[in-house]
Amino acid sequence: MFGGSIRVARIRGISIELHPSWLIILALVTFTLANGVFPDQYENWSTATYWVVGTIASVLLFATVLIHELAHALVAQRRGIAVPSITLFIFGGVSSLEEQPRSAGEEFMIAAAGPLTSLVIAALTLGLWFAFEDVNQQARAVLGYLATVNLLLAVFNILPGFPLDGGRVLRSIAWNRTKSFRRATRIAGGVGELFGYGLMAIGVFLLLGGLALNGLWLMFIGWFLLGAARAETSRLKLDTILAGLRARNVMREDFPQVRPGTSLQEVADDFMVGHGERAVVVALGGSVSGIITVNDIRHVAREAWPQTPAQQAMTPREKIITVDVETPALDILHLLAEKGLNQVPVLEDGRMVGLVTRRELLERVQLAESLAPDELPEPPSEEQRHHPQP
Ligand SMILES: [Zn+2]
Repeated sequence: MFGGSIRVARIRGISIELHPSWLIILALVTFTLANGVFPDQYENWSTATYWVVGTIASVLLFATVLIHELAHALVAQRRGIAVPSITLFIFGGVSSLEEQPRSAGEEFMIAAAGPLTSLVIAALTLGLWFAFEDVNQQARAVLGYLATVNLLLAVFNILPGFPLDGGRVLRSIAWNRTKSFRRATRIAGGVGELFGYGLMAIGVFLLLGGLALNGLWLMFIGWFLLGAARAETSRLKLDTILAGLRARNVMREDFPQVRPGTSLQEVADDFMVGHGERAVVVALGGSVSGIITVNDIRHVAREAWPQTPAQQAMTPREKIITVDVETPALDILHLLAEKGLNQVPVLEDGRMVGLVTRRELLERVQLAESLAPDELPEPPSEEQRHHPQP
């Protein structure tokens, strides 16, 4: 999700990463503090002091954002859900959980831990702010800022913009009520989309009212949340439909085959144009020597097709990405998307037994959706996860 992020630390096995876009927001916050917020509040500091205190305050702000994310992550870890990474980026922080929560209660606890932590930080820094009266103006400036922003963070995150924390809390409540993870996600996703549109609308309003920067920023965040809400809903769709399916369930066993000596002209005429195949396996007596795809054929001049044997234009076996019969269907879909492939051969004990194509996989998803929109499998229950069935 966040390509180009750099790992800066490791906490309890969680990789703490910074996305390059984070530097933009760090600079923006520092600049605003040093040029606007602090000079407005305190008049007699030197320029250097404004900048130093501004930098310290913005770095500490992101430290508290990280603590907020860690709160989510540690609660998830304690519940047995692996958390590979936390990334700080332009819109704040995000923890990547390896799997969906298994129960409404679990989701509620993981989601609520973040805003609750921000609230605690706000209370602590506010207390220190009082304690530092007459002690140190600069420290007080930083504490006051941290208290304000963490309070805002807690409030903003509890708004129902799925996949924000509040949206997840909303989903856990809907999940508890409807007893359906899918229905709850649709509800939370729908509210999240509305929320995204709402923020964008307020942004336009501010923009027209003359608050250009604030307006643009809100539009930007609204647009981001809208996309995130949609992505979360469609990810879940795939997750639930393909859950439990493996390569052996979704592969076709009657994949098209030609002999190594078959001409490209024949392959193109009989299989690709003739039957709409995008890939044909090149094999001799059960042993696969490669795969020839539409792309492979395109690389050969059309005049040479009749004389060129398939084995000369094919992608040889050792260069083909393959999967095992037991590979989960969802992993295959990700693999196809990641590598830009249209199909992947399926091996069993080193022997090719089938072919999974992207087109067929997606057709299956659509079919499953249209057949039983509400009867699709729920995520596995806690019991199953703790005692995996063979
Ligand atoms: Zn959060």
